[in-house]
Amino acid sequence: MSDLEPNKLRKQYLDIKRRYPNEILLFRLGDFYETFDDDAQLVARELELVLTSRPNMYKADGVRVPMAGIPHHALESYLARLIAKGYHVAICEQVGADEKGFFRREVVRVVTPGTVTEPNLLEAGRNNYLAALAVSEGRAGLAHADITTGDFAVTTLPAPNPWPALRHELMRLRPAELLLPEGVQHPALADLNIPCTPLPGWKFDPGKARAVLLEHFGVSSLAGFGLEHSPLATAACAAIVQYVRETQPAALNLLTRLSTYSLDAFMLLDPATRRNLELTETLRGGEVRGSLLGVLDQTVTAMGARLLRQWVNQPLLDPARINERLDRVAAFHTQGVLRAEVRAALKPLHDLERLTNRILGLTANPRDLVALRETLAALPALKERLKSGDSNLQSLISNLDTCADVLELLQTAIADEPPAVLGKPGIIRAGYSEELDGVISASSHAREWIAGLEKAEKERTGIKSLKVGYNKVFGYYLEISRGQSDKAPENYIRKQTLVNAERFITPELKEYETLVLNAEERILEIETRLFKDLCRQIGAHAGRLLTTARTVAQLDVLAALAEAAARNGYVRPQLADEPVLEIRDGRHPVVEQFLPAGRRFVPNDIVFEPGECVRVITGPNMSGKSTYLRQAALVVLMAQMGSFVPAASARLGVFDRIFTRIGAQDEIAAGQSTFMVEMVETANILHNATARSLLVLDEIGRGTSTYDGLSLAWAIVEHIHNHPKLKAKTLFATHYHELTDLAAVLPGVRNYNVAVAEEGDHVVFLHRIVPGGADRSYGIHVAQLAGLPRSVIARAQEILAQLEASGGRAVKREPIAAAQMALFPETSPLLDELLALDLNALTPMEALSKLFEWQARFGKSA
Ligand code: ATP
Repeated sequence: MSDLEPNKLRKQYLDIKRRYPNEILLFRLGDFYETFDDDAQLVARELELVLTSRPNMYKADGVRVPMAGIPHHALESYLARLIAKGYHVAICEQVGADEKGFFRREVVRVVTPGTVTEPNLLEAGRNNYLAALAVSEGRAGLAHADITTGDFAVTTLPAPNPWPALRHELMRLRPAELLLPEGVQHPALADLNIPCTPLPGWKFDPGKARAVLLEHFGVSSLAGFGLEHSPLATAACAAIVQYVRETQPAALNLLTRLSTYSLDAFMLLDPATRRNLELTETLRGGEVRGSLLGVLDQTVTAMGARLLRQWVNQPLLDPARINERLDRVAAFHTQGVLRAEVRAALKPLHDLERLTNRILGLTANPRDLVALRETLAALPALKERLKSGDSNLQSLISNLDTCADVLELLQTAIADEPPAVLGKPGIIRAGYSEELDGVISASSHAREWIAGLEKAEKERTGIKSLKVGYNKVFGYYLEISRGQSDKAPENYIRKQTLVNAERFITPELKEYETLVLNAEERILEIETRLFKDLCRQIGAHAGRLLTTARTVAQLDVLAALAEAAARNGYVRPQLADEPVLEIRDGRHPVVEQFLPAGRRFVPNDIVFEPGECVRVITGPNMSGKSTYLRQAALVVLMAQMGSFVPAASARLGVFDRIFTRIGAQDEIAAGQSTFMVEMVETANILHNATARSLLVLDEIGRGTSTYDGLSLAWAIVEHIHNHPKLKAKTLFATHYHELTDLAAVLPGVRNYNVAVAEEGDHVVFLHRIVPGGADRSYGIHVAQLAGLPRSVIARAQEILAQLEASGGRAVKREPIAAAQMALFPETSPLLDELLALDLNALTPMEALSKLFEWQARFGKSA
């Protein structure tokens, strides 16, 4: 095969590789994707492949070219590993051969983290965003697109310092890849752990960008997208369009719409707050289970799961939009039967967004079209069910286009159970294509004809020994034994002489043979062509399919929120114009789900009185202060995303931001100590909070010495309370009981504590928040429960008593005697030996000698 002409092949490879210097080039060679040179070394190392070489392929310096290959059918799994390691991979396919049979090759796509489309490389319940950032002189635009779903949106970040907002937005989106102009670096991006792809600066040039977008959308003005006066937003969008064109050209068809959004429309949540409130993943372990999303996610489709994640991450600020969502959730909440039926109707729906994408990109397989057919076939029933819903749901129905024409096309074109992949016969239904049906029927006729030939010819010629046979060299033949071969009819052409027989063919037999042998190949070729054509026809309806997909996602999320509300006993929050916070019998949505069996969650009110600004909460460790604080934040957040809330009732103003300062976390990687992180987060809160913000501050000042910490905490409460622009509703949990004195001097400060019942030596946490300050933390009690050695607990109690008696001054400093420390040792070799003795088997004499032995070990002579 001329493909094995090593020099020509090498030149072809080098020509292509020159255009993809930064990518790993997977070069299709028969059944393998081969890599060469440095790529081969790298791939062999990263994928643990064997490095090989060909005896006839040399580099310029005469050394054999190193190679490492991946079997073509295993591409996806190797691709997944390379992408996960942050590499970009160019896939070079064989695209037809020249007249000498030498394959032409082309890079058909470049796979990067943000442009992956392989279903197995994507998480169903989460978007895979490609983001692009354009910056210039204190201004910035940030665009993001998911090329598997068609989501494409852009925002302009606030000038003159766009970085903090950019950071928050990137933390919300968590893009798989961020495009940015070469040379752009900023500390705000440093620790986000988002793979960045620098591109030449000219790709972000606003003038050129405008032209790119006008051409892409086929419009004459960008005004319709709200981009006419946003050069940096335009540049960011154009960077995405150009990048997708270079990497996954087919996916461009999916980016048919673009929405501009303003960060002002959404509650701003800084990264620390997102993390602390465990919105989509737990602090420890980063798992969805145990997060707010984990509790609320009752969605039944992948589209719904992705949208719910967006809602949780982006609570709204516009009361009208919040109420619109709440009205719809309420509709599903009150109509339980409707909810169950709609959810049942949603369940069989496949991922319409990603299916549409694969069809548009011509990467769909026959099973994808079956999935689309099943999905579309299920839509009328869903639509019918919704008609009996209340008026709040009716507006959604009009967006639910069942795409009956597309369904009909699929029903007539695709077989009931086609093979999973292209390249096997049986995809197209009989009756769809005359050409295909003709080939299939001709071939089956030919088979029948050949099968009947032996009998017919025996009868016609009277030759008893006549047989029809087949071999690879001659194809079909007629065989007659030596003795009777002279009786062969005239139309028989002699082909081969054997010892005992002669073999013949006839022109007719050869014709039928060609029909049979060629038929399978032709069937495959026609089916592939028809299939691609079908994908193009369906792709023309992508806009309608995507609108339906988005409506399905909304229905799924609304019904899921209603389901969560019904299962967990949530109520609809009432929105108020004024900044009130009135939660009665509120609960923590996650903690209440994970209490050990037999324990009930104790609901608590969080009702701020008029004029109340800072609520100081004291109480023992482990009594539920943090839970109380977080539940306030989560109830507010749930309300603003459009969800019902875990409470008996809730009346809430719309909060512009929720700030949290919770727990101690070292960010050693970012060069910050625990206390530094604490203070940075606090500074952020004091600078950016407004009177409409909700502040959740847990144990501020704990990371330093008592007096420094107490002084800071005191000053911070005063600042929030007194600053004319602040006065934000604040929940402040602390172990500094001194802070309760603030209520006496600041009219907006109230003291609350967690009720405790003391029963003899035992302390029982009631988890009930009651007015008034606490004077004890019961920290030593908690330490005892945690299993600290008894000697440490005893000593701590002794020191505490001394401190309390002396007003925090004198502690007896003399060390405790070693003997005293060992009085009740928790463990010792002696104790182990003692416990190991089998007293029933021990004679009195042996027992006595053991005692002597132990005394001797401690220095006593007999
Ligand atoms: P520390 O001061 O040590 O940080 P804390 O007072 O903040 O403690 P939390 O972490 O809020 O205490 O709560 C400790 C545990 O108590 C929770 O994990 C939960 O199991 C339980 N708990 C908290 N609040 C309640 C409640 N209202 N009803 C039932 N159990 C609760």
